[in-house]
Amino acid sequence: MIISLDGVAPEAVVERHLSHLVSDRISASPDIRGGQMAANAALNAFDVTGYAAKRNQVLPQSARGASRLSPYIRHGLLPLREVWKAAVGPSADVSKFRDELLWQEYSRHLYARVGMSLHDNLRFEVPWSGDFTPEAWPREMACVNWAISSLETDGWLVNQTRMWLASQYTVRSGAGWVAGQEYFHQHLLDGSRAANLLGWQWTVGAGSGKPYGFARWQVEKRAPKLCMACPLNCKCPIQNFPEDSDPRPVAEPDPRLMRDDDLARTRGPATVVDRSTPRSVVLTVESLGDDDPALVAHPQLPVIFVFDEPALQKLKLSSKRLVFFVETLQDLAERREVIVHLGDPRKITPGLDAAITWAPVPSFAKYATTAAQMHPWPWLAEPHAGSVKSFSAWRQKLTQPKSS
Ligand SMILES: Cc1cc2nc3c(=O)[nH]c(=O)nc-3n(C[C@H](O)[C@H](O)[C@H](O)COP(=O)(O)OP(=O)(O)OC[C@H]3O[C@@H](n4cnc5c(N)ncnc54)[C@H](O)[C@@H]3O)c2cc1C
Repeated sequence: MIISLDGVAPEAVVERHLSHLVSDRISASPDIRGGQMAANAALNAFDVTGYAAKRNQVLPQSARGASRLSPYIRHGLLPLREVWKAAVGPSADVSKFRDELLWQEYSRHLYARVGMSLHDNLRFEVPWSGDFTPEAWPREMACVNWAISSLETDGWLVNQTRMWLASQYTVRSGAGWVAGQEYFHQHLLDGSRAANLLGWQWTVGAGSGKPYGFARWQVEKRAPKLCMACPLNCKCPIQNFPEDSDPRPVAEPDPRLMRDDDLARTRGPATVVDRSTPRSVVLTVESLGDDDPALVAHPQLPVIFVFDEPALQKLKLSSKRLVFFVETLQDLAERREVIVHLGDPRKITPGLDAAITWAPVPSFAKYATTAAQMHPWPWLAEPHAGSVKSFSAWRQKLTQPKSS
């Protein structure tokens, strides 16, 4: 089925065609718009000065140093190389900011290498499985209530509050982290398996063996007004840091954490794979920007996007993410012919003779075999075959990031 985007508000497009696929009442994120123009404006407006000191600030919003570029980075509207290049300012701030971009790249390398294994505890045993447990986020705690409401309303959280929620869910409440990360994935505009699974693994201690202990101290430091207004102010359940825990190492960690015996599969094609003459360009959610390599290579060809109905049926994302996609496609339609399908990409794309950009995620397999032409992924830094068991181990082997 083809979906028309013409002259209709993005929310109305979602209401009309995609409402059976979402988990909430249809609305847009109040502050974050989709589209290349919005992404460019956000990057231009970001000043890295003060980032190192203010990155973890939560409230007041005016004191935050975080860039809020993540939804655009996640969906390829701002390639990491571009963001890396655009960070100009005091060296300590640039260095801290680029470090975070490298965390994003690390998550992509790790996920490209181990794929679905990231859904399991990587290196240490912590509560992992089980159904989603809303009580693990006690709403009478003002800090938890505010953070969950922000997640559900805005579709975005600063890193600090992601850590609070993940730690509260598993380290404090003992619920299995995979269902908690799924809830994040449903609601975040930047929700990616790579970064979200990694963020949960590291916060709850499954990646590092050192769980992040969430306590009142962090809230008072980063968002003092939340404690002041909290009904539990005088009987705070997180008054002290949690007891140190010492998670046991996983009995048989995935050997691919130590080395990659199939680096070519992890990194994807290094040069353009030509099978036949393309008649269209297909975009995926991994790469929706004007700099998408296949899009750039074929400025005259129509652009096709498929809302993957079977996948969305399972994921039940928040409507904010689908509105973000529609905004992005409407924005692109100002410059290119855009055709939007709703259905199964495995059935729709084989007849398209499409050029497409390879993406470092398992779900790209749906597009890989039938593409007429496949373009390499624009890595910030080339994947290597050495250890990825920690960020620092991974970084030691890394070659210089590319910034052009
Ligand atoms: C439990 C948990 C879940 C997370 N889930 C996601 C997710 O689904 N998608 C996602 O993109 N990030 C995720 N992160 C990482 C990080 O919290 C967000 O990238 C960041 O908060 C986005 O805000 P920002 O753009 O203002 O970041 P900034 O601080 O301005 O950083 C700039 C960019 O660097 C990258 N970055 C920053 N910190 C990290 C990090 N710790 N790991 C990976 N990349 C990072 C992002 O691309 C970000 O946009 C998660 C972290 C935790 C602790």
